[in-house]
Amino acid sequence: MKILFKNANILDVENGKLFLGNVIVTDNIISFVGTTYPNDNFDEVIDCKQNILMPGFVDAHCHSPMTILRGVGADLPLKDWLFDKIIPLENKLTPNDIYWGEKLAILEYLAAGITTVEECYFDNEQIIKALSESGMRARVGFGPSTRKTNKDMQTFLTEQLNMFQKVDHKQIKPCLYIHSIYTSTSDEIENCVYFSAKNNLPMSIHLSETLDEVGNCTVQNDGLTPPQYLESLGFFDRNTLCYHCVHMDKDDLQILADYNSNICTCPSSNIKLASGIAPIYAMQNKGINIAIGTDGVASNNSLDMFKEMFLVSTLAKVSISDASAVKAQDVLKMATKNGSKALGFDCGEIVVGKTADLIIIDIHKPHMYPHSDLLSHLVYSAKSSDVVLTMINGRILYKDGVYTNEDAQLIYNKINEIRERLTK
Ligand SMILES: [Zn+2]
Repeated sequence: MKILFKNANILDVENGKLFLGNVIVTDNIISFVGTTYPNDNFDEVIDCKQNILMPGFVDAHCHSPMTILRGVGADLPLKDWLFDKIIPLENKLTPNDIYWGEKLAILEYLAAGITTVEECYFDNEQIIKALSESGMRARVGFGPSTRKTNKDMQTFLTEQLNMFQKVDHKQIKPCLYIHSIYTSTSDEIENCVYFSAKNNLPMSIHLSETLDEVGNCTVQNDGLTPPQYLESLGFFDRNTLCYHCVHMDKDDLQILADYNSNICTCPSSNIKLASGIAPIYAMQNKGINIAIGTDGVASNNSLDMFKEMFLVSTLAKVSISDASAVKAQDVLKMATKNGSKALGFDCGEIVVGKTADLIIIDIHKPHMYPHSDLLSHLVYSAKSSDVVLTMINGRILYKDGVYTNEDAQLIYNKINEIRERLTK
């Protein structure tokens, strides 16, 4: 299968520029990128009409089935929101609910140009089933979540890892996910580190998200901050991704930099739950690989990387009173190439040899004119509803408002039924 995207404004994320040209996708790989018109035969030719052709977004942190809980506990602080509202409802979720919640998230991802996601929830069998059916690319976390298991940790982790035996590992990979230092004991964390080393698995965790978390950690662990505490447990010896990292000082960030840990920032979640503003500028100065995530929609409330990019840039600017900090091209790279690197995939760039995860952004809308500065428009003006095509691994899964592989109305009906049952 050979598809030509012609007459496209192609985003070069590495150099932060757009150029008019053509792209060929052969099967699932980008096989040509250039300004010349390729003389070849194609199965399909897509005229991009000078719209922006860019790599799909990598949402590096989400709890997708939380789409079912959209809006629950709005306007509450994180602790009350999580322990009084979210977890009691999560305890009522059946495996079937998780499946449909994941499906709803997938609709939202595809329509918003999100082609890869890091998934952290429970009932992974259902999540993997929904992701595999859809054609999404994902790294799926398993491990000690907020839902506790009575099983011995090594047995539990082995059972979880076995679920990945049947999946295509180019599109769905496992990682070991610890919810947080405040939901797991040091024993559990050390067990996970051991299992991760034995099975060569990357690890992820929510880290230094709130001042409460940092304060409690230092009180309970002889003055150690959350990164210092995790370092003492060998966590950073592994390939790691830390979500949020809102309350970190220079020394904390230095630990992450020294161990080449990745960070995923989730600004909507952090400001809605009043957790704080992550020190993005300081992270950049430490040379840390920064990716962007939406977090679950119960704390967001949408899976929209345009909103996140806007916030990463503008919150960083206002927090250090410098409008030149964290530029549009920086956040575009975070939302694509950096995310792909953090999750260990070979996408996130329009470069020959990369996997074909591509999206088209409509620039023929009032808020995208004039076309003189499209790179900054992408971050400061564009909306997720401007996405007109989403291709993952060479397959077009969304085009002009139509899902090619999902029955949207069926999913909406199921979700309404589930939410009604949960809130009875
Ligand atoms: Zn989260």
